[in-house]
Amino acid sequence: MKKKDQVIAAFEHKYGKEYRVFFAPGRINIIGEHTDYNNGFVLPAAIDKCIYLAIQPIAGNTTYIHSVDFDEEVSFTLDVDHKTLPHWALYPFGVIKELQKLGKNSGAFRAAFGGDIPEGAGLSSSAALESVFATALNSLFDFGLDKMTLAKTGQMAEHNYAGVMCGIMDQFASIHGKKGHVMKLDCRSLEFEYFPLELGEYELLLIDTRVKHSLASSEYNSRRKDCEEGVMIMRRDNSQRKSLRDIRSKDVITFLGSIGEQVYMRCQFVTEEIERVGYTCESLLEGDLEQVGRYMFETHEGLSKLYHVSCPELDLLADVAAEIPGVLGARMMGGGFGGCTINLVKSTEVPVLIETTRKKYLDAFGKEPEYYKVNTGDGAGEII
Ligand code: ADP
Ligand code: MG
Repeated sequence: MKKKDQVIAAFEHKYGKEYRVFFAPGRINIIGEHTDYNNGFVLPAAIDKCIYLAIQPIAGNTTYIHSVDFDEEVSFTLDVDHKTLPHWALYPFGVIKELQKLGKNSGAFRAAFGGDIPEGAGLSSSAALESVFATALNSLFDFGLDKMTLAKTGQMAEHNYAGVMCGIMDQFASIHGKKGHVMKLDCRSLEFEYFPLELGEYELLLIDTRVKHSLASSEYNSRRKDCEEGVMIMRRDNSQRKSLRDIRSKDVITFLGSIGEQVYMRCQFVTEEIERVGYTCESLLEGDLEQVGRYMFETHEGLSKLYHVSCPELDLLADVAAEIPGVLGARMMGGGFGGCTINLVKSTEVPVLIETTRKKYLDAFGKEPEYYKVNTGDGAGEII
């Protein structure tokens, strides 16, 4: 049974036949990694893997939420200490609380939800979960909030209830996605633009390392620091340089002496990556997927050799993919130290890519990666 139907069946079984159904997707990012906190650009797309939610407002103060995938129900009133809730319930609870901060009070409801986004693989199942509740509550209780506000509400729930200090990209993409398109998001102004992603005889395949190295969060913080340090020094003679967004990649080398080699490498990567997002959009408009693929390889190289956020598992997958004819591009996706690679590959060559990476990965690491084919999909909404 499809996940959406499972969710509906679970709702009907527990709570009855009156409900509305909403969905919100996970996301990929074509290019633009570690650029968000540098005020740069990212290029995400919503995907065809989603969280589905069946929901109905009820009288009283007690809300009931059933997680189909964890086969667990919580009930709470809004004064509950959130630390007593199971982890998955923090996301909807956080959304309700963040809406409340905006003066939007959700009434009680009952709900069942579940999804087919692999958790913790870097496809942002958490953002999808926040987005589906934000979208549903906005509609159910007529809050009249615009999409960007809903995305920010999800982001704040993630910060304040899940304790993850994420940027806006994931929730933005889950809510604004459009099938067949990627979105170029300006992380400084939050302005965005859709670009068509017409894959023709190619497709996107994610390969999941199934590892998450523990250095991920400490190294993330130290990369942010390196970037800030670079900007601090580079703006001494030009106060317009407020972030790496304001510096061209070809100029970074002139600061090598003052910023030192490590900070230089970080700044070089980020400034190139911000420019690469723009170039990639141009190539998409020209329908030049081969060039898009080359940028993806460049991004991987930079993340691995300059930004130092890759790991042997990701490097192996990207390197093996690069050797296979029909693979236009491959790179690690997300913060690094684990998660997936994203591969742009000719449909007919997908089996070769899968078999080759499976074998080499197994030989090197004693386990097999996981594979997910993804298509672009629409952003959060109601299923009628
Ligand atoms: P991701 O990269 O997928 O966002 P996170 O660790 O940020 O990984 O979020 C995963 C968490 O989100 C899970 O631990 C769980 O609490 C919640 N979650 C995601 N998908 C589901 C689901 N289908 N059902 C219940 N909870 C989910
Ligand atoms: Mg997440």
